[in-house]
Amino acid sequence: MQDKKHIVILTGAGISAESGLKTFRDSDGLWMGYDLEEVATVSGFIKNPKLVLDFYNMRRNEVALASPNAAHYGLAKLEEKYKVTVITQNIDDLHERGGSSNVIHLHGEIFKKCSSLNQDIVVDCHNDINIGDLCEDGSQYRPFVVWFGESVPMISIAADIVNTADIFIVIGTSLSVYPAASLLSEAGANIPKYLIDNNPPAINNNDIKVISKTAGEGVAELLTYLL
Ligand code: NAD
Repeated sequence: MQDKKHIVILTGAGISAESGLKTFRDSDGLWMGYDLEEVATVSGFIKNPKLVLDFYNMRRNEVALASPNAAHYGLAKLEEKYKVTVITQNIDDLHERGGSSNVIHLHGEIFKKCSSLNQDIVVDCHNDINIGDLCEDGSQYRPFVVWFGESVPMISIAADIVNTADIFIVIGTSLSVYPAASLLSEAGANIPKYLIDNNPPAINNNDIKVISKTAGEGVAELLTYLL
């Protein structure tokens, strides 16, 4: 039997927009008027940990109430014919709940928390994190998310995976957050590449087929090419 072709898919906040989760770029006043320096950096956490914990507690509650949309379900269907790896910048779990079995989270997961001294100590988290919730090492628990200015431990694994792709797909990302955006250049020169976004970012790459549609509509179109 021939080996299945490997599809690698890079997703961003846009794939979860139709599930009701706000993106960065499209929302009026980034994430309901929060300053990202205050809620998504280590210095913000040191300055006002309650503000940061509350912000992510809200995100966790929103994700718990959201459901996967047609795009998440559509990508899972690709597994009928292909080996599929989803590399997501999203901290939600909608790919997993939509049926994708191989998901790499570049920027962490909202349903996990970690030590604020050692991000290798990670546990599940389905409730709010409050001030005084201590990890086994005695430190305050923090959300298991990668904040701006922090390193992205999964990036080299992700780059190796993109490097081996037979087909590369990008969905719903402004490609403005690095190093995630650099994954585009890791894909082989001669493989089919697709970008789905209803307001696609400018890219300097003519061999990418751009599908200017919402994630749900765009993935439905993509399935007609690939299945
Ligand atoms: P971004 O907000 O910068 O870009 C979103 C992109 O999605 C834009 O190009 C926009 O045109 C597109 N988009 C919006 N609605 C769409 C739709 N219905 N269908 C298809 N495309 C649509 O987000 P990003 O590029 O992911 O990067 C910013 C960071 O945002 C990431 O680090 C990510 O961790 C974080 N984030 C995650 C979530 C989540 O987990 N759901 C939500 C917001 C932000």
